[in-house]
Amino acid sequence: MNDTLFGKIIRREIPADIVYEDDEVLGFRDIAPQAPVHVLFIPKNEAIPTLDDLQPGHAELVGKLVLAAAEYARREGFAQNGYRVVMNCREDAGQTVFHLHLHLLAGARLGHFGAR
Ligand code: AMP
Repeated sequence: MNDTLFGKIIRREIPADIVYEDDEVLGFRDIAPQAPVHVLFIPKNEAIPTLDDLQPGHAELVGKLVLAAAEYARREGFAQNGYRVVMNCREDAGQTVFHLHLHLLAGARLGHFGAR
């Protein structure tokens, strides 16, 4: 298995502020938050390195990451105000951890983004 920092978080070998968990998805606060709410959602049972490694059979898994983020936003009460989800793929997007993850950003009016 492609073992990463996030694999260690799943196995509770390193600490994380876990705020969401179901059978397939773990959600924990980003250690360097870019917004008042910044939570990472990762698949627990498969460490896919990048978006570019996804196959058609991963459709349900990716859907569950998105649904977990949406459920968390509703549960925490900020869904009505809005939020952003981001998935970075490789160098140009600044991906640093090669275990598929979805960023949920919320809690403030977020600026637009693009090339620097
Ligand atoms: P990305 O740049 O899309 O690969 O996102 C990786 C994210 O993981 C970054 O936003 C980091 O701040 C975050 N991160 C790195 N190490 C940890 C950690 N130990 N606990 C929580 N978040 C982390």
